Amino acid sequence: VIDAGQPEHSVVTTCAYCGVGCSFKAEMKGDQLVRMVPYKGGDANHGHSCVKGRFAFGYATHKDRIKEPMIREATNAPWEVVSWDEAIAFAANKLKDTQAKYGRESIGGITSSRCTNEETYLVQKLIRAAFGNNNTDTCARVCHSPTGYGLKTTIGESAGTQTFDSVIKADTIVVIGANPTDAHPVFASQMRRRLREGATLIVIDPRRIDLLSTPHGGKGLHLPLRPGTNVAMVNALAHVVVTEGLEDTAFIESRCEPRQYNEWREFIAGERNSPEAMEAVTGVSAQLVREAARAYAEAGNGAIYYGLGVTEHSQGSTMVMGIANLAMATGNIGREGVGVNPLRGQNNVQGSCDMGSFPHELPGYQHVGDPAVRARFEDVWGVTIDDEPGLRIPNMFDAAIAGSFKAMYVQGEDIAQSDPNTQHVEAALSALDCLIVQDIFLNETAKFAHVLLPGATFLEKNGTFTNAERRINRVRKVMAPVAGLEDWEVTMALSNALGYPMDYRHPSEIMDEIARLTPTFTGVSYEKLDRLGSIQWPCNEAHPDGTPTMHTLDFPIGKGRFAVTEYVASEEKTNRKFPLLLTTGRILSQYNVGAQTRRTENSQWHHEDVLEIHPSDAELRGVHEGDWLGVSSRVGQTVLRARISERMLPGVVYTTFHHPGSGANVITTDSSDWATNCPEYKVTAVQVEKVTQP
Ligand code: SF4
Repeated sequence: VIDAGQPEHSVVTTCAYCGVGCSFKAEMKGDQLVRMVPYKGGDANHGHSCVKGRFAFGYATHKDRIKEPMIREATNAPWEVVSWDEAIAFAANKLKDTQAKYGRESIGGITSSRCTNEETYLVQKLIRAAFGNNNTDTCARVCHSPTGYGLKTTIGESAGTQTFDSVIKADTIVVIGANPTDAHPVFASQMRRRLREGATLIVIDPRRIDLLSTPHGGKGLHLPLRPGTNVAMVNALAHVVVTEGLEDTAFIESRCEPRQYNEWREFIAGERNSPEAMEAVTGVSAQLVREAARAYAEAGNGAIYYGLGVTEHSQGSTMVMGIANLAMATGNIGREGVGVNPLRGQNNVQGSCDMGSFPHELPGYQHVGDPAVRARFEDVWGVTIDDEPGLRIPNMFDAAIAGSFKAMYVQGEDIAQSDPNTQHVEAALSALDCLIVQDIFLNETAKFAHVLLPGATFLEKNGTFTNAERRINRVRKVMAPVAGLEDWEVTMALSNALGYPMDYRHPSEIMDEIARLTPTFTGVSYEKLDRLGSIQWPCNEAHPDGTPTMHTLDFPIGKGRFAVTEYVASEEKTNRKFPLLLTTGRILSQYNVGAQTRRTENSQWHHEDVLEIHPSDAELRGVHEGDWLGVSSRVGQTVLRARISERMLPGVVYTTFHHPGSGANVITTDSSDWATNCPEYKVTAVQVEKVTQP
């Protein structure tokens, strides 16, 4: 609270932190934000909030905000403050010169899950229409891209199937690789309520997460598997379902493709997938796995919620398909209280994926290789769209180091801190002739930039975010942008300077264009959003007010497609030199790379990243609470303070990545998911040794 006085007016908007998408009333006195009050009419939060959304908004007026555009010819030169016109012209000339010298494919851009749908749509349009290639990717590449691949392949749509409220009808709640009390606190409260009422909880995670401490009426099972063995675990669970006659045969016969099902069933019933055979791989007792499989399959309603502990693996996409297999085999899809629900980390991960940020997909997950799709976009955009998928983020880095990729526009992302193997990322950024960074702070990536364009916070713009339950919420401008322009206006100016005209007067016009081109959004408009409060897509002729529960009668691909999910061990293995496995995650008071929350009072609760280590591993190394530890992997080393924790499995250590100095991503490797290149943040072999204070 900045001022306890009475506000003069308020504006309803959406929290810009996590994928729950809570609505708030921003209470104002003149142009000063007095406080954020959770909005009772919010469809995702019903008047609840967490410590981030309610209190961590002070970053918007922090002294570190970039207030003026800046340029420089070389990254070792001082910044020169210039006007917007000069900065845009400088950036456009650099991009044109680069393409003239190195070709059309030599430039690209990265969109952010923190930005609005309209901003994200516009950046990918800029790249496709003005740059003339498909070198557009989103930061969802490094978090939920396997959700896109895995769910699209099996159930036909890259999105969670339920509303958050639907958890109140779940009898068994399965949480895989997620920590809702820290990362999705308001939804975690709904889960807790249901657990207190008697639902069974199954947690599949190497750490003992807080949710397990919730007093609950039903059973609570923790399957503490070794990092990197998710697919072995989901196969073992499915094996029990199939071999103990726990399948929902009516659902399978009516809703699923028989050929794929038969193939999958033969595979999964094989003895090598049994809990007993997998026990040595996962480290979890076969008896516990059998108990969990029965609790899920025999529940009236079994709902699965998963997070980055599923996706950020070399088999991330395989695991997502394994989860969908399990839900289809037990008929736990297509009604309230069940489903497959990815918990999106950032506020607009769902939206940034929906808006065509991927190098192979236009908005609405429409493939660039489809001539009919391209024709529709070409008709509205007035350009020819490249039919070849462009570069993914890791490919951009590789191409930059190889010398064929020379310029990049990054909106709202700190890739130098958030992406794995920092040394590799920094080498790529250093090799660029032109890096344009648009952000609210001088972040780690900006150190390599030639153009710095001030970004606007969520309080300074109009637009929409789409939360983890496909709910499109309005973001409403509360105060003027500190640098005068909203992000979509900057993208538009850059496009005009490059010679591709854009002329929107308000983000509502961008949404109208999105609705025209995206089959799942055809019924979405600002007028309807204002009238209904929020809309869950698909929203179209068949579902004019949106779709709370998906797949009730059929799947977008007709019938569900089981996929064979063979377990393949991670290439990242422990040995004598690197005997422990490091896994990473988040903490309640901080958000992602911490650029925002570190500049608020939330930092008092978490001012440094630490290394959680099991007492037995600590004792072996003579480590005490608070000791400094050198943590080294095959790619790098860092220093973190020790926190001895019974929550850890012996042999597994854990840290967060909220502070740039801690260097979690200096040690994570660039191993990645076989289908999407999502980095394997969750499995890094490390050595831990006591060191003197750094
Ligand atoms: Fe914001 Fe998420 Fe907290 Fe809601 S739960 S207030 S969306 S950070």
